[in-house]
Amino acid sequence: MEIKMVDLKNQYLRIKDEIRKSVDEVLFSSQYIKGRQVEEFEQSLKEYLGVRYAITCANGTDALQIALMSLDLKPNDEVICPSFSFIASAEVIALLGLRPVFVDVDYNNFNTTAKNIKQAISIKTKAIIVVHLFGQSAEMEEILSIAKQYNLYVIEDNAQSFGAESIFSDGSAKKLGTIGNIGCTSFFPTKNLACYGDGGAIFTDDDILAEKLRMIANHGSKQKYNSQRIGVNSRLDTLQAAILQVKLKYLDQYLKKRQEVANIYNNELKNLEQIILPSKSPNSTHTFNQYTIKVMEKKRNDLQTYLKSKNIPTAIYYPIALHKQTALSLVSRKGNEMTNTDRLCSEVLSLPMHTELSIEQQKYITENIKQFFIQEKK
Ligand SMILES: *Cc1c(COP(=O)(O)O)cnc(C)c1O
Repeated sequence: MEIKMVDLKNQYLRIKDEIRKSVDEVLFSSQYIKGRQVEEFEQSLKEYLGVRYAITCANGTDALQIALMSLDLKPNDEVICPSFSFIASAEVIALLGLRPVFVDVDYNNFNTTAKNIKQAISIKTKAIIVVHLFGQSAEMEEILSIAKQYNLYVIEDNAQSFGAESIFSDGSAKKLGTIGNIGCTSFFPTKNLACYGDGGAIFTDDDILAEKLRMIANHGSKQKYNSQRIGVNSRLDTLQAAILQVKLKYLDQYLKKRQEVANIYNNELKNLEQIILPSKSPNSTHTFNQYTIKVMEKKRNDLQTYLKSKNIPTAIYYPIALHKQTALSLVSRKGNEMTNTDRLCSEVLSLPMHTELSIEQQKYITENIKQFFIQEKK
């Protein structure tokens, strides 16, 4: 049995004809840059998320960089960021000459908390990058209230949770990426909404920020050959927009399938006391970009090796926390407790999770996990 961490080929085969037609339209038009499909996809994104502005760009890291650039911060201004995340969430802070301040995350849901953020605020703090890790929302209501109190910008890094919703105490719900001042996402092939290469987008409801964001992504100019500010060249290819336009129609179906895969894992693995299953936050829907378990008693690496010997791929997101990354630790302001992050780095294991996983494949995975712990006991 061949099991993949992410199965992009079989997902493609299901929608092959539609994709090829859409791609062919671009090839025939030859409008590879800024073709009409880019604008059409931006329109679809706005409708899907219920947000006023959607600005596509080259990738999720660029989205974060452009978002930070639009805030016009000064050198050494501080930006708070969770320490348990992908490097992209923080490297853009350092790249722009700003100072990252890392904070710990919640042990259960992997996301940072309003309490941890509040403790890290100084007079230099100007913004928070909130990462919605593995598929669900951080506690946005509480974080927004702190941001308001201290007058901080909130940038959402929604690369892993596109399509998920935050649920507020009054019962209302909002799509992630539309809650803070600016939302950023990635269409990298392993994300919930994925293209066939690199892609990203930025979201906001704010007229002034929207204008700045669009300018920055386009060499700092509104008109061609007339630059008003320092920008970058960051565009979504027309081909990728054409692919994404097709795939966006299937996103809710894909998210439903991810949920079903997670339910099966939950059911099959619930009696194993040596692992902790992913917990679902009450204030969020979950899109399971990753299904990440925690393995107790230093058995994580052994379990991974055992599963590998059975041809079951797994991944460690993330083995080294951001506060321990050499380049970042040189520039970050330190002093915050990282107990949960440090523990998670040695316990987490992400299982195969994608829209094409069959029940037989999942059975094979879960039976082998159980088998590992039976052997351990002997
Ligand atoms: C993937 C990812 C990014 C970066 O996206 P790219 O498109 O690869 O640049 C940023 N943040 C998080 C949390 C991610 O998972």
